[in-house]
Amino acid sequence: MQNKALYYETLHQGYGQYFEVENILFEQRTEQWHLSIFETQALGKVMALNGAIQTTERDEFIYHEMLTHVPLLAHGSAKRVLIIGGGDGGILREVVKHSSVEAITMVEIDAAVVEMCKSYFPAHSNGAYDDPRLNLVINDGLEYVRTATEKFDVIISDCTDPVGPGEVLFSSEFYEHCKRLLNDNGIFVAQNGVPFLQQDEISNTVRRMHSYVNDCTFYQAAVPTYIGGCMTFVWATDDVDAKQLPVAEITTRFKRAGLVTRYYTPALHQASFALPAYVQQLVASA
Ligand code: SAM
Repeated sequence: MQNKALYYETLHQGYGQYFEVENILFEQRTEQWHLSIFETQALGKVMALNGAIQTTERDEFIYHEMLTHVPLLAHGSAKRVLIIGGGDGGILREVVKHSSVEAITMVEIDAAVVEMCKSYFPAHSNGAYDDPRLNLVINDGLEYVRTATEKFDVIISDCTDPVGPGEVLFSSEFYEHCKRLLNDNGIFVAQNGVPFLQQDEISNTVRRMHSYVNDCTFYQAAVPTYIGGCMTFVWATDDVDAKQLPVAEITTRFKRAGLVTRYYTPALHQASFALPAYVQQLVASA
Protein backbone atom coordinates (compact mmCIF):
# COMPACT_ATOMS: atom_id res chain seq x y z
CA MET A 1 0.00 0.00 0.00
CA GLN A 2 1.32 3.42 -0.96
CA ASN A 3 1.76 5.86 1.96
CA LYS A 4 -0.21 9.05 1.56
CA ALA A 5 0.79 12.40 3.05
CA LEU A 6 -1.23 13.31 6.13
CA TYR A 7 -2.58 16.77 7.02
CA TYR A 8 -2.89 17.27 10.78
CA GLU A 9 -5.14 20.04 12.01
CA THR A 10 -3.45 22.22 14.64
CA LEU A 11 -6.50 23.91 16.22
CA HIS A 12 -6.67 22.03 19.53
CA GLN A 13 -3.72 21.17 21.71
CA GLY A 14 -3.21 17.44 22.23
CA TYR A 15 -6.31 16.37 20.32
CA GLY A 16 -7.17 16.53 16.69
CA GLN A 17 -8.02 15.16 13.30
CA TYR A 18 -5.97 14.34 10.26
CA PHE A 19 -6.73 13.78 6.60
CA GLU A 20 -5.07 11.55 4.05
CA VAL A 21 -4.15 13.98 1.30
CA GLU A 22 -4.76 12.83 -2.26
CA ASN A 23 -3.54 16.02 -3.82
CA ILE A 24 -2.45 19.49 -2.65
CA LEU A 25 -4.30 21.99 -4.82
CA PHE A 26 -3.15 25.29 -3.33
CA GLU A 27 -0.76 26.24 -0.55
CA GLN A 28 0.30 29.82 -0.13
CA ARG A 29 0.74 32.70 2.26
CA THR A 30 -2.00 35.23 1.47
CA GLU A 31 -2.38 38.71 2.94
CA GLN A 32 -3.84 37.28 6.19
CA TRP A 33 -3.39 33.53 6.19
CA HIS A 34 -1.46 30.43 5.38
CA LEU A 35 -4.13 29.12 3.01
CA SER A 36 -4.18 25.41 2.14
CA ILE A 37 -6.60 23.62 -0.14
CA PHE A 38 -6.23 19.89 -0.63
CA GLU A 39 -8.19 16.91 -1.88
CA THR A 40 -9.17 14.00 0.36
CA GLN A 41 -11.08 10.78 -0.15
CA ALA A 42 -13.00 11.19 3.07
CA LEU A 43 -14.48 14.68 2.77
CA GLY A 44 -13.64 15.87 -0.74
CA LYS A 45 -11.77 19.16 -1.02
CA VAL A 46 -10.78 20.75 2.27
CA MET A 47 -9.69 24.32 3.09
CA ALA A 48 -7.53 25.22 6.07
CA LEU A 49 -6.45 28.66 7.29
CA ASN A 50 -3.37 28.76 9.53
CA GLY A 51 -3.73 25.02 10.14
CA ALA A 52 -7.41 25.14 11.22
CA ILE A 53 -9.91 23.33 9.01
CA GLN A 54 -12.53 25.80 7.74
CA THR A 55 -14.70 23.92 5.31
CA THR A 56 -14.98 20.69 3.36
CA GLU A 57 -16.99 19.84 0.28
CA ARG A 58 -18.88 17.01 1.94
CA ASP A 59 -20.26 18.53 5.13
CA GLU A 60 -20.32 22.28 4.47
CA PHE A 61 -24.09 22.23 3.89
CA ILE A 62 -24.79 21.54 7.57
CA TYR A 63 -22.97 24.60 8.83
CA HIS A 64 -24.10 26.94 6.07
CA GLU A 65 -27.77 25.97 6.18
CA MET A 66 -27.99 26.24 9.96
CA LEU A 67 -26.14 29.53 10.23
CA THR A 68 -28.36 31.06 7.52
CA HIS A 69 -31.88 29.65 7.56
CA VAL A 70 -32.39 29.62 11.33
CA PRO A 71 -32.05 33.42 11.70
CA LEU A 72 -33.64 34.28 8.35
CA LEU A 73 -36.73 32.14 8.86
CA ALA A 74 -37.01 33.12 12.53
CA HIS A 75 -36.95 36.77 11.53
CA GLY A 76 -39.57 36.14 8.89
CA SER A 77 -39.18 39.31 6.81
CA ALA A 78 -35.48 40.05 6.56
CA LYS A 79 -34.71 42.43 3.72
CA ARG A 80 -31.16 43.49 4.51
CA VAL A 81 -28.48 40.98 5.52
CA LEU A 82 -24.86 41.56 6.60
CA ILE A 83 -22.37 38.68 6.35
CA ILE A 84 -19.04 39.10 8.13
CA GLY A 85 -16.28 36.78 6.91
CA GLY A 86 -17.76 33.95 4.89
CA GLY A 87 -15.06 34.01 2.20
CA ASP A 88 -15.82 30.48 1.01
CA GLY A 89 -19.21 31.74 -0.25
CA GLY A 90 -21.39 29.10 1.46
CA ILE A 91 -23.38 31.52 3.62
CA LEU A 92 -23.89 33.82 0.65
CA ARG A 93 -25.22 30.88 -1.41
CA GLU A 94 -27.82 30.14 1.26
CA VAL A 95 -28.78 33.81 1.80
CA VAL A 96 -29.44 34.43 -1.92
CA LYS A 97 -32.00 31.59 -1.85
CA HIS A 98 -34.28 33.95 0.11
CA SER A 99 -36.06 36.03 -2.52
CA SER A 100 -37.42 38.32 0.21
CA VAL A 101 -33.87 39.57 0.88
CA GLU A 102 -33.26 42.79 -1.03
CA ALA A 103 -29.68 43.69 -0.14
CA ILE A 104 -26.67 41.72 1.07
CA THR A 105 -23.39 43.20 2.26
CA MET A 106 -20.54 40.75 2.78
CA VAL A 107 -17.34 41.90 4.48
CA GLU A 108 -14.42 39.50 4.07
CA ILE A 109 -10.91 40.36 5.20
CA ASP A 110 -8.96 38.45 2.56
CA ALA A 111 -9.76 38.62 -1.16
CA ALA A 112 -7.59 35.56 -1.79
CA VAL A 113 -9.99 33.35 0.19
CA VAL A 114 -12.87 34.50 -2.02
CA GLU A 115 -10.90 34.00 -5.23
CA MET A 116 -9.44 30.61 -4.31
CA CYS A 117 -12.81 29.32 -3.10
CA LYS A 118 -14.46 30.46 -6.32
CA SER A 119 -11.83 28.39 -8.20
CA TYR A 120 -11.61 25.30 -6.00
CA PHE A 121 -15.03 25.21 -4.28
CA PRO A 122 -17.39 26.53 -6.99
CA ALA A 123 -20.38 24.73 -5.44
CA HIS A 124 -19.95 26.69 -2.19
CA SER A 125 -20.98 29.99 -3.78
CA ASN A 126 -22.74 28.39 -6.76
CA GLY A 127 -22.76 31.67 -8.69
CA ALA A 128 -24.00 33.77 -5.75
CA TYR A 129 -21.20 36.33 -6.18
CA ASP A 130 -23.00 37.42 -9.38
CA ASP A 131 -26.20 38.16 -7.50
CA PRO A 132 -27.10 41.83 -8.09
CA ARG A 133 -28.19 42.21 -4.45
CA LEU A 134 -24.60 41.66 -3.25
CA ASN A 135 -22.18 44.37 -2.16
CA LEU A 136 -18.85 42.59 -1.49
CA VAL A 137 -16.46 44.58 0.68
CA ILE A 138 -12.87 43.46 1.29
CA ASN A 139 -12.11 44.78 4.76
CA ASP A 140 -11.73 43.77 8.37
CA GLY A 141 -15.18 43.13 9.85
CA LEU A 142 -14.53 45.23 12.95
CA GLU A 143 -13.24 48.15 10.87
CA TYR A 144 -16.36 47.92 8.75
CA VAL A 145 -18.89 47.90 11.58
CA ARG A 146 -17.09 50.76 13.37
CA THR A 147 -17.97 53.20 10.62
CA ALA A 148 -21.05 51.62 9.04
CA THR A 149 -24.39 53.41 9.43
CA GLU A 150 -26.82 51.37 7.32
CA LYS A 151 -29.04 48.99 9.26
CA PHE A 152 -29.62 45.26 8.81
CA ASP A 153 -32.32 42.77 9.78
CA VAL A 154 -29.93 39.84 10.15
CA ILE A 155 -26.17 39.83 10.75
CA ILE A 156 -24.29 36.54 10.23
CA SER A 157 -20.69 36.35 11.43
CA ASP A 158 -19.12 33.41 9.60
CA CYS A 159 -15.76 33.91 11.22
CA THR A 160 -12.63 31.95 11.99
CA ASP A 161 -11.76 31.02 15.58
CA PRO A 162 -10.92 33.77 18.07
CA VAL A 163 -7.20 33.82 17.34
CA GLY A 164 -5.38 35.91 14.73
CA PRO A 165 -7.47 38.04 12.36
CA GLY A 166 -10.75 36.49 13.59
CA GLU A 167 -10.23 37.47 17.24
CA VAL A 168 -11.76 40.94 16.85
CA LEU A 169 -15.02 39.35 15.70
CA PHE A 170 -15.50 38.01 19.25
CA SER A 171 -14.87 41.36 20.98
CA SER A 172 -17.35 43.49 22.96
CA GLU A 173 -16.69 46.33 20.55
CA PHE A 174 -17.71 44.20 17.57
CA TYR A 175 -20.88 43.01 19.30
CA GLU A 176 -21.79 46.54 20.36
CA HIS A 177 -21.48 47.85 16.79
CA CYS A 178 -23.44 44.91 15.39
CA LYS A 179 -26.23 45.67 17.84
CA ARG A 180 -26.18 49.32 16.73
CA LEU A 181 -26.50 48.19 13.10
CA LEU A 182 -29.47 45.90 13.73
CA ASN A 183 -33.00 47.08 13.00
CA ASP A 184 -35.53 46.61 15.81
CA ASN A 185 -35.87 42.90 16.49
CA GLY A 186 -32.96 42.14 14.18
CA ILE A 187 -31.00 38.95 14.82
CA PHE A 188 -27.23 38.45 15.14
CA VAL A 189 -25.74 34.95 14.78
CA ALA A 190 -22.15 33.73 14.70
CA GLN A 191 -20.24 30.50 14.84
CA ASN A 192 -19.16 30.09 18.45
CA GLY A 193 -16.95 27.03 18.48
CA VAL A 194 -17.40 23.52 19.86
CA PRO A 195 -18.19 24.01 23.57
CA PHE A 196 -16.86 20.65 24.70
CA LEU A 197 -13.38 21.79 23.62
CA GLN A 198 -13.77 25.57 23.54
CA GLN A 199 -15.73 26.31 26.74
CA ASP A 200 -14.31 29.82 27.10
CA GLU A 201 -15.97 30.83 23.85
CA ILE A 202 -19.43 30.37 25.38
CA SER A 203 -18.71 32.28 28.60
CA ASN A 204 -16.76 35.05 26.84
CA THR A 205 -19.52 35.61 24.33
CA VAL A 206 -22.27 35.70 26.96
CA ARG A 207 -20.27 38.13 29.13
CA ARG A 208 -19.46 40.39 26.18
CA MET A 209 -22.88 40.26 24.52
CA HIS A 210 -25.53 40.09 27.20
CA SER A 211 -25.67 43.80 28.03
CA TYR A 212 -26.48 44.68 24.42
CA VAL A 213 -29.47 42.39 23.82
CA ASN A 214 -32.47 41.01 25.70
CA ASP A 215 -31.80 37.48 24.57
CA CYS A 216 -28.34 35.93 24.20
CA THR A 217 -28.35 32.17 23.84
CA PHE A 218 -26.99 29.46 21.54
CA TYR A 219 -28.24 26.84 19.15
CA GLN A 220 -26.29 23.90 17.84
CA ALA A 221 -25.58 21.54 14.96
CA ALA A 222 -23.36 18.52 14.51
CA VAL A 223 -20.77 19.28 11.84
CA PRO A 224 -18.28 16.39 11.48
CA THR A 225 -15.45 18.70 10.42
CA TYR A 226 -15.64 20.73 13.65
CA ILE A 227 -14.55 17.92 15.92
CA GLY A 228 -15.32 17.40 19.59
CA GLY A 229 -19.12 17.36 19.63
CA CYS A 230 -21.81 19.77 18.50
CA MET A 231 -20.89 23.25 17.30
CA THR A 232 -22.73 26.18 18.86
CA PHE A 233 -23.93 29.34 17.18
CA VAL A 234 -24.58 32.43 19.26
CA TRP A 235 -28.06 33.91 18.92
CA ALA A 236 -28.49 37.53 19.98
CA THR A 237 -31.63 39.62 19.59
CA ASP A 238 -34.08 41.81 21.46
CA ASP A 239 -36.93 39.64 20.19
CA VAL A 240 -37.15 37.07 22.98
CA ASP A 241 -39.86 35.12 21.14
CA ALA A 242 -37.91 34.68 17.91
CA LYS A 243 -36.31 31.41 19.00
CA GLN A 244 -39.59 29.90 20.17
CA LEU A 245 -41.65 29.82 17.00
CA PRO A 246 -43.89 26.77 16.71
CA VAL A 247 -42.70 24.21 14.17
CA ALA A 248 -45.93 24.77 12.19
CA GLU A 249 -45.07 28.45 11.72
CA ILE A 250 -41.46 27.71 10.80
CA THR A 251 -42.75 25.13 8.30
CA THR A 252 -45.07 27.72 6.73
CA ARG A 253 -42.16 30.15 6.34
CA PHE A 254 -39.85 27.41 5.03
CA LYS A 255 -42.39 26.39 2.37
CA ARG A 256 -43.16 30.00 1.46
CA ALA A 257 -39.44 30.60 0.93
CA GLY A 258 -39.33 27.54 -1.37
CA LEU A 259 -36.13 26.28 0.22
CA VAL A 260 -34.58 22.94 -0.60
CA THR A 261 -32.18 21.84 2.14
CA ARG A 262 -30.11 18.79 3.05
CA TYR A 263 -29.73 19.27 6.82
CA TYR A 264 -32.05 22.06 7.90
CA THR A 265 -35.65 21.15 8.68
CA PRO A 266 -38.19 23.23 10.63
CA ALA A 267 -38.26 20.62 13.42
CA LEU A 268 -34.45 20.63 13.66
CA HIS A 269 -34.52 24.43 13.66
CA GLN A 270 -36.68 24.46 16.77
CA ALA A 271 -34.86 21.59 18.46
CA SER A 272 -31.45 23.16 17.87
CA PHE A 273 -32.10 25.61 20.73
CA ALA A 274 -32.29 22.73 23.22
CA LEU A 275 -28.85 22.72 24.85
CA PRO A 276 -27.08 20.01 26.85
CA ALA A 277 -26.93 20.69 30.59
CA TYR A 278 -23.18 21.38 30.57
CA VAL A 279 -23.67 24.09 27.94
CA GLN A 280 -26.62 25.58 29.86
CA GLN A 281 -24.33 25.75 32.89
CA LEU A 282 -21.62 27.51 30.92
CA VAL A 283 -24.21 30.08 29.82
CA ALA A 284 -25.68 30.51 33.31
CA SER A 285 -22.33 30.87 35.06
CA ALA A 286 -20.82 33.36 32.62
N1 SAM B 1 -16.86 27.85 9.11
C1 SAM B 1 -15.58 28.20 9.54
C2 SAM B 1 -15.29 27.83 10.97
O1 SAM B 1 -16.17 27.46 11.69
O2 SAM B 1 -14.12 27.89 11.34
C3 SAM B 1 -15.22 29.58 9.19
C4 SAM B 1 -15.41 29.79 7.73
S1 SAM B 1 -14.25 30.81 6.92
C5 SAM B 1 -15.23 31.18 5.53
C6 SAM B 1 -14.22 32.30 7.86
C7 SAM B 1 -13.83 33.54 7.08
O3 SAM B 1 -13.72 34.65 7.99
C8 SAM B 1 -12.52 33.45 6.32
O4 SAM B 1 -12.81 33.63 4.95
C9 SAM B 1 -11.68 34.58 6.88
O5 SAM B 1 -10.82 35.20 5.95
C10 SAM B 1 -12.75 35.52 7.43
N2 SAM B 1 -12.30 36.43 8.50
C11 SAM B 1 -11.52 36.14 9.55
N3 SAM B 1 -11.29 37.24 10.29
C12 SAM B 1 -11.98 38.24 9.69
C13 SAM B 1 -12.15 39.62 10.00
N4 SAM B 1 -11.56 40.19 11.06
N5 SAM B 1 -12.95 40.35 9.19
C14 SAM B 1 -13.56 39.78 8.11
N6 SAM B 1 -13.41 38.50 7.76
C15 SAM B 1 -12.63 37.73 8.55
